Amino acid sequence: MELWNSYRSYLQRRFGCAVYRIGVDGGFSCPNRDKDGHGGCSFCDGTGAVAVYHRKKESSFHHDSLYDDSVANSLLPRLDSIESQIERGREFLMRRYHAEGFSLYFQSFTNTYDSADNLRAIYDRALSTGTYKEFIVSTRPDVLPDDVVDLLASYASPEMDVWVELGLQSASDYTLRAIGRGHDSACYADAAARLHDKGIKVSTHIIIGLPGEGRDDFMRTVEMVNSVRSEGVKIHNLHVPGGTRMADEYLDGDFTISSEERYLDDAELVLRRLSPDTIIQRLVCETPMHRLIAPRVFPDKSLFLSRLRRQMEEHGTRQGDLYGCGEEDS
Ligand code: SF4
Repeated sequence: MELWNSYRSYLQRRFGCAVYRIGVDGGFSCPNRDKDGHGGCSFCDGTGAVAVYHRKKESSFHHDSLYDDSVANSLLPRLDSIESQIERGREFLMRRYHAEGFSLYFQSFTNTYDSADNLRAIYDRALSTGTYKEFIVSTRPDVLPDDVVDLLASYASPEMDVWVELGLQSASDYTLRAIGRGHDSACYADAAARLHDKGIKVSTHIIIGLPGEGRDDFMRTVEMVNSVRSEGVKIHNLHVPGGTRMADEYLDGDFTISSEERYLDDAELVLRRLSPDTIIQRLVCETPMHRLIAPRVFPDKSLFLSRLRRQMEEHGTRQGDLYGCGEEDS
């Protein structure tokens, strides 16, 4: 019996086969990193999330510029790059895992930060490269105008689900201001509601152990994820990449990073408080070591997950067994 509602099992139930994500960097920027913005999230090193098979090509796109005509003019090379990335990703996943089912995942930076016309061209080209079980777009909650939500919803079909991954990180507006997110929690709730109205599934990114936050704070974040009925959640312990404002704060001693033992307890509690229906899409962050200031000592993903399973078996706990309970009992 599974102790939490794993993404892998969900995909097997939903599609009858193992499904693998092909990650794509669409060459998008981020409004929060623009020159007239707020300098980006304090933990953002400007590299963006990339799939392992693209890592040697990190930063091949320039991501920091404001949206302007030069972006539109550079659309054709972006489309060509997207096609070759998908081809490389598919080959890697077939070679490594004998993958047969695929999802298409726009992963890096803010993947709705463009005009609806450009987005349509980019998404259409990507989706023309094959048959996909899921079309997944990662973005910020404040970059989802209604015409873009309508565009995303237009891709959904009985054979392919559309997901939007929303960065929330914390339900505390104080924390969101402190880490420079550039949006508040109400913006996230509104985006999730508008996506759900159009039949789009929502996955929420949250961070456990943000500076100044204790268990009461991230339990409120979990309650918010429950209250908007986010279908999926991506959770991870705080990582501090080098060259960031947060790295300066960490090196100044402004906050500490959770040990493995602390995060095991926190992750267990988060799982217990989440709805049992929420799909757990991530529990550990895998920032490459060469980009990471802290934590420097932490087990790899499979070891951490096996320790978490063992701890929950010993405690007799499982996802959702405290769902709806107001008080922490562990
Ligand atoms: S929203 Fe993402 S890309 Fe933009 S500044 Fe924050 S972490 Fe960086």
